[in-house]
Amino acid sequence: MSATASEVSQMKTMIRNFVENEVDPYAQQIEDENHIPQHLVDKAKELGLFGLSIPEEYGGIGLNATGKAIVLEQLGRTHNGYVSLISAHTGIGSTGLVRLGSEQIKQKYLPDMAAGNLIGAFALSEPGAGSDATNLSTKAEKKGNKWILNGLKHYITNGPIADVITVFAITDKEKGAKGGITAFLVEKDFPGFSVGAEDKKMGLRGSHSSQIIFEDCEVPEENVIGQVGMGYVSALTILGEGRVGLAARAVGSSEKLIEMSARYANERVQFGKPIAVNQGIQWMLADMATETEAAKQLTMKAASLIDEGKKAIKEASMAKMFASEVFNKVADKAVQIHGGMGYIAEYPIERFYRDARITKIYEGTNEIQRVIVAKHILNENKI
Ligand SMILES: Cc1cc2nc3c(=O)[nH]c(=O)nc-3n(C[C@H](O)[C@H](O)[C@H](O)COP(=O)(O)OP(=O)(O)OC[C@H]3O[C@@H](n4cnc5c(N)ncnc54)[C@H](O)[C@@H]3O)c2cc1C
Repeated sequence: MSATASEVSQMKTMIRNFVENEVDPYAQQIEDENHIPQHLVDKAKELGLFGLSIPEEYGGIGLNATGKAIVLEQLGRTHNGYVSLISAHTGIGSTGLVRLGSEQIKQKYLPDMAAGNLIGAFALSEPGAGSDATNLSTKAEKKGNKWILNGLKHYITNGPIADVITVFAITDKEKGAKGGITAFLVEKDFPGFSVGAEDKKMGLRGSHSSQIIFEDCEVPEENVIGQVGMGYVSALTILGEGRVGLAARAVGSSEKLIEMSARYANERVQFGKPIAVNQGIQWMLADMATETEAAKQLTMKAASLIDEGKKAIKEASMAKMFASEVFNKVADKAVQIHGGMGYIAEYPIERFYRDARITKIYEGTNEIQRVIVAKHILNENKI
């Protein structure tokens, strides 16, 4: 059974208070130290945030896509690096196992993932396979009752800290994306697994990404997620849901930036009056709020379609593309309204501005989202 509407509403209020009172005071520290204090990770565990989308029978909260979007919107109001740790785990890092895993591996891993004792990650991207995720080089060969993985993944969020990773590898080169890619659940302690160089990034400080390497890495056959050969379809399903979560976070960040900008405009006096009296400022705020509301409606529409059992690939792409672009525009205008203060690193606006940028790139670039949307429209209108 998933959470009721009133439980989700209570959770929304609780998360809003939590991020404002307990996470925001540490945002600058996370930024300066590139590290999330352990007590904030422990608090996320206590609140059940690592089990947001894991069903209750495995110890999670079991939110549906709409409930999860509501919670992620609230989380998006705070430090995006902190949120990234949680959302990479609850989104792309665990959706494959929840949706497609066998009962045996769900029982084995999900309770500890829901508790935050095992951190999840999702490893599709490789140096030669970014937007073209079918062009994988990582291979898996069956030997007895094990699969042997060889290859390298890069830019993997939570890579340096993940305990269990959903990994995609070629199992039949001839078949490629149509039956030749398989998803595996890999433990960090499996022989032949190692973590490579960590990335130095523009933003998302506190969230760590890295290469992960497989050298004759032994994966038991029961750790295949879904059917052998069906990994590309699985990746699309996982990414579809992940994109709605990412859109919800972008909406939450935009809402926070609008509030900060309006408050600042009311307070900051130039030429003897608050800058808010100028139409030039008001129009920026009006555009920020209107576009953010539109992004929210697209996001919630995609989430509700998923809850109706639809794949909603087109709508998830629309939501991710639009909400991430709105977040970037809102962050740019927030810097403008704050003037010089918007550019100074000791205030949060500058951090949001940098953190916004990645949302147009990961979980599929916005060009690829447009390709997906266009493909659906053309197919829907074939004569
Ligand atoms: C901080 C960070 C975290 C990440 N986390 C993860 C993770 O957890 N797991 C994971 O698997 N991956 C992760 N990624 C990888 C991310 O998903 C890829 O970077 C992204 O999909 C783009 O791939 P690429 O970087 O190879 O760019 P490319 O595919 O090389 O694209 C370069 C440019 O060409 C454009 N382009 C490519 N093909 C087309 C086309 N057909 N039409 C129009 N334009 C096109 C792109 O849109 C882009 O503008 C992460 C990346 C970063 C930076």
